Amino acid sequence: MAFKLFKKYCAVCGKEVPKEGAIVRFGAHLCSDEHAEVYRKKMAGEKAKSGGGCCG
Ligand SMILES: [Zn+2]
Repeated sequence: MAFKLFKKYCAVCGKEVPKEGAIVRFGAHLCSDEHAEVYRKKMAGEKAKSGGGCCG
């Protein structure tokens, strides 16, 4: 883990994100506005999914 401290990777595609110009959403780094939007939708979807349903 320690070697990752100073490098950030896009939460969507895994590409290394430059320190300057990085986009951060929900504490995750994204390489582009496009992937920031993808990640935002992903987070919104997971939040909704965890909301309910106990018995199949
Ligand atoms: Zn990306």
